[in-house]
Amino acid sequence: FNECDNLFRTNFCLQVKASPGYPKRVLSGIQPTGSLHLGNYLGAIKKWVHLQDSGDEAFYSIADLHAITVPQDPRNLRTGILEMTASLLACGIDPEKCVLFQQSKVLYHTQLCWVLASFTTMAKLGQQAQLREKREILQELSTALYLYPVLQAADILLYKATHVPVGEDQISHLNLASFIARGFNKRFGDTFPIPHPFINEDSSRRLKSLRNPLSKMSKSDNDPRSRINLCDSPEEILLKCKKAVTDCSSAVEYDPEKRPGISNLLVIHSSLTGKTIDTICQEAAGMETGNYKITMATEIIEVLRPIRERFHELIKEPAYLEDVLETGASRASACARETWQEVSKRIGIDTS
Ligand code: ATP
Repeated sequence: FNECDNLFRTNFCLQVKASPGYPKRVLSGIQPTGSLHLGNYLGAIKKWVHLQDSGDEAFYSIADLHAITVPQDPRNLRTGILEMTASLLACGIDPEKCVLFQQSKVLYHTQLCWVLASFTTMAKLGQQAQLREKREILQELSTALYLYPVLQAADILLYKATHVPVGEDQISHLNLASFIARGFNKRFGDTFPIPHPFINEDSSRRLKSLRNPLSKMSKSDNDPRSRINLCDSPEEILLKCKKAVTDCSSAVEYDPEKRPGISNLLVIHSSLTGKTIDTICQEAAGMETGNYKITMATEIIEVLRPIRERFHELIKEPAYLEDVLETGASRASACARETWQEVSKRIGIDTS
């Protein structure tokens, strides 16, 4: 394990208390709204692979129902679902070891969301910080955006997930899911384990935009030069690294307060290669920033090569990708059906 993995293991052990009486089960998801970038890989997907490989029961969803809470072009969405599937497989997600599925193919998500929404007040939903952010970007908010955290609660509770790896920005949603689970259990009897979030990234290692090192690297940033995607060609990676914003000093040193640009490049380089930042700085001693960017790009290109090549093989096989999603949906549905039947009995509608 490199430094990053060790940190994750420590956080994991410290922050997660298993719910007594329930088997350990991991659930996480990602929206199919753009290419996976280095931040997604290092902050989330690498950990997903680790969890699946350590033998934990894991459910990973391609969260298309969440994606449509803001406007999407239908053609891009369909392509995005297949591309996300290919990217996850290329990163090492193995459908034999985990359940990888498209959220909308398991109809119980929306059914349970409706039930949970019936017990959740608007006052509770209106408090979500992410709504305030969306309000700044969108002229009008869909009703579904208000329900977003309830759907997320349904995603988790449907599988009786005990462990939910999330980014820092999702913690409030996870707290709401725990609140909803407690409320339901109190009113209708013990049904759901209380899901425990664990933060799957160290905030000092949260990757920043290559164009603005004060904001995070993000799929939805309008400037494609702000992020390195896992499937970028070597030429694109080299160009993006060369154009990454740094400052007028040419020394390669880590000082996130005073020199956020070069420090961000060092974090990216270190997180991806497993070398410590000190080692990289020693190797770059006497080198100017411009030359360091080329060295860094060369190493990134090599580390990403197997993922990139596998992605390009997989994306040529849409039938295989559809098959993976179909199998995943039927395995997820079998588990979700049991919970739904239990819930429907408890609330008195009994759909069995
Ligand atoms: P969007 O711009 O659509 O919100 P995003 O790129 O910010 O997308 P998400 O889909 O919100 O990514 O996040 C998926 C997971 O990837 C998060 O839970 C988080 O753990 C991780 N992640 C996203 N961006 C970063 C980043 N810059 N650094 C580290 N981890 C990140």
